[in-house]
Amino acid sequence: MRPSILYPLFYPLENLSGVGNRYGSLLHNLLDGGKVLDLVWHLPISVIDRRCSVPLSGATDNKIWTGRVRVVEHLPPQNKKQPYRICVEDDTEQLTLVFFKTFGDSLSKTFPVGAEKIISGKIEIFNNALQMSHPDYVADIDKPSQMPEIEPVYPLTAGVTNKMLGKLMRQALAVVPNLPEWHDANLLQKENFPSFQQAVLQLHHPQSEADLNPQSPARRRLVYDEFLANQLSLAIVRERMKHQKGRVLQGNGALKQKLLQNLPFTLTNAQQRVIAEIESDMYAPYRMSRLLQGDVGSGKTIVALMTMLNAVECGAQAAIMAPTEILAQQHFESFSALCNEIGVTTALLTGNVKGKARQELLQKLQNGEINILIGTHALFTDEVTFKDLAYVIIDEQHRFGVKQRLNLSAKGWLCDVLVMTATPIPRTLVLTQFGDMEYSKIDELPAGRKPVATTVMPLTRIHDVVSALQRKLQTQTQAYWVCPLVEESEKIDLSAATERFESLQKIFGDQVGLIHGKMKESEKNAVMEKFKNGQLKLLVSTTVIEVGVNVPAATIMIIEHAERFGLAQLHQLRGRIKRGFESSNCILMYGYPLSEVSRERLNTMKQTEDGFLIAEEDLKLRGGGEILGTRQSGFSNFKLADLSLHNDLLLTAAKDAALILQKDRNLQSERGQNLRTLLYLFERDDAIKTYNAG
Ligand code: ADP
Ligand code: MG
Repeated sequence: MRPSILYPLFYPLENLSGVGNRYGSLLHNLLDGGKVLDLVWHLPISVIDRRCSVPLSGATDNKIWTGRVRVVEHLPPQNKKQPYRICVEDDTEQLTLVFFKTFGDSLSKTFPVGAEKIISGKIEIFNNALQMSHPDYVADIDKPSQMPEIEPVYPLTAGVTNKMLGKLMRQALAVVPNLPEWHDANLLQKENFPSFQQAVLQLHHPQSEADLNPQSPARRRLVYDEFLANQLSLAIVRERMKHQKGRVLQGNGALKQKLLQNLPFTLTNAQQRVIAEIESDMYAPYRMSRLLQGDVGSGKTIVALMTMLNAVECGAQAAIMAPTEILAQQHFESFSALCNEIGVTTALLTGNVKGKARQELLQKLQNGEINILIGTHALFTDEVTFKDLAYVIIDEQHRFGVKQRLNLSAKGWLCDVLVMTATPIPRTLVLTQFGDMEYSKIDELPAGRKPVATTVMPLTRIHDVVSALQRKLQTQTQAYWVCPLVEESEKIDLSAATERFESLQKIFGDQVGLIHGKMKESEKNAVMEKFKNGQLKLLVSTTVIEVGVNVPAATIMIIEHAERFGLAQLHQLRGRIKRGFESSNCILMYGYPLSEVSRERLNTMKQTEDGFLIAEEDLKLRGGGEILGTRQSGFSNFKLADLSLHNDLLLTAAKDAALILQKDRNLQSERGQNLRTLLYLFERDDAIKTYNAG
C-alpha cells in the first residue's frame, strides 16, 4: 500500500483552490496527469527577474520592466473599440498602461490618481512612446511581496497563464513532504545532493538562469531518484523471474548436430556464445526472460532455430511470433527450409489461415504433430492450444513493454521467453526498457562480408550522380533513390519525390518507377513487384521502403537531403542494400544549410556500419525516444531525466539497484522501506506487488 506520507501528492488537482473541472482538464493535458504530484514534476524552463533596476527612460522594447510609478490620469475609452488607458510616470519618463475589456471601476480602485504603485510587465514602444498592456503585476509600495522578485516561468498551454500556474504551484509545493532519505549517505555527500524536499523546492525557486542547469545538484538528485526507481523496479521483476519455477530443457543435441552438418557455413563466435547463453537459461529450472540483439544480417535466424531445436529435442514445442504477416511469412520460409531437411515439422499461423486449413493446423498443434509454430500475434488467441509449449521467441518486440511481457506468463504457460530485435538499441535504453530481462548481443557479422561503400556529397553534384547511375544501371544492378517529402511545400524547400521522378524519367524513361506513402496499398505492391522482377531498374521513393523490402539485385542507395534524416533511419535505409558478398554503394547527398549535428550524423554514417555504434551516436545527438519510437509504443518517458544528458547517473543507478537487492532482497530493512516509498513516489509500485504474488 502507498505510504500515507505520500497521500497529499496523489490528491487530484481539483483539491487545490482555483481548480474547477474545466481548468482541471486543461491542466491534465498540460501535465499529462491529474495529481498534485504531476504539478510538482512540472519544472520551470526560465526565470523572469522582476527586481527594479532601471528608470523608465532606460526601459527596453519587448522586455519586462519593473518599477515604481505615479498615476497621472485616466483616459477612459471614447467608443467601444478603444482601450482604457492610464498615464503613469516616474522621474524620467511617461508610460501608458493599456487595458482591453476592463471595467473603469476596478481600475480606478487599483490606480487612484496621484497614488504610487509598483508595476511589472512587458514594455512596448509605440510611436516613440512607452506602453504596457495589462501589467503582469501591480503591488502597493508598502507591500512589494505582492509580486515575486524572481518568477519561475513554466511550460504553458492555451488557457493556463504562468501566474495561475504559479499560484497552484505554491499550494502544491506546500504539501511536498520531507521524506525519509533512501539514498546512501556516501552518495549524497559525493554528489552534493540536497534532500528530496530541498531539491524540489530549489528547482521551483530558481534565482537565475544558472539554476536551471540540468546538471545542478538538485536536478541530478531528482533524476537519480527517478532512475533508481526505474532500475529497482525492473531488477525486482527480473529477480522474481529468476526464482519462478520453469522447466529444465536440455536436449540430447541430435537435431542441432544434424542442422549444423547441413549448413554451408560454420557459426561465428558470437553466434556460439549467444546460443550458449540462451541454453544455459533453458537448462536451468527457472523461467528464461532474455533479450537478444543483433544487427540485420548478424545471423539471428540460426541462433533462434538452434535454441528451438533444443526444446524440440526434449519432446516439447516452440513458437516464434513476428510483428507482421509479411515478416511471419519470411520467417516461415527460412525456418521451414532448414527444418524440412532434419525432419522437424513447422507450420505458419496468421489471420490469413482460415476455415478447414486452420482447423487442421490447430488440431495438429494440439496433437503435437507440429514442433515449431511460426506466426503473428494470432498465436496467442484462446483457440490456440499447444500439446506442450515450452519456448516462445518474440521477434522485434520492442513495441511491447514490461507489462505485456509479464502478461505472456499470465497465459499460464511455463515458457522460456526470448525477445529478439534487429533494431540496435543503445545500452542505456536496454537498461531502462529491458532491464527486467537478461541480455545477449551478437556483436560480430559472419566473415567475408563486404562493407557498403558510403559517399557523402553536396546536392550540387547531382549531375555526377546521375551520369554514374546511367553507367551502373546498364549492368544487372538496380537502385533506390530516396527523397524526404512527397509534394513540394511552399515553405520548406524539399525536393519532392514526384518532381525528382519526372526529371529522372526524362533520362531513364520507363526504367524508373515511383512509390510513396500516399499511394494505395495495391498500387504500391504493383510498383514493388515490377522493381523486384527487374522491369524497373530505378525506384524513386519516399521513406516507405524502409520496412520489410528485400530486393537482392538492388545494390545502390541514393538519399537526397540526407541531412534531414535521423541516424537510425539512415542506417535502416542503407541496410536495404547490404548484400553481404557483393559490393554496394550508398550515396548521401546533402543540401545547405548543414547544421553541426547533421554534419556529424553524415560523418558517422561514412565511418561506420556498426548499428550499435550508430545508435549510441544517435542517442548522443538527439536524445533517446525516437530510436524505439517511444511515443507510439507507450513506453513511459522519464519525467525529469534526459538519457542524452544523465547517462552517467543511469549507469550508477543500475549498479546501485543490483547492490540494494543483493543485500535486501525484499526491501525489508529500514532503508528498504524508504526505497519502497521511492517506488511509490515514481509510480513503479507494480514491482512491489510481485512480492505478494510471487
Ligand atoms: P538476421 O536475421 O540477423 O538479419 P539472418 O539470420 O537472416 O540474419 O542471416 C543473414 C544471412 O547470413 C543468411 O543468409 C544466413 O544464412 C547467413 N549466415 C548466418 N550465419 C552465418 C555464418 N556464421 N556464416 C556465414 N553466413 C551466415
Ligand atoms: Mg532475420
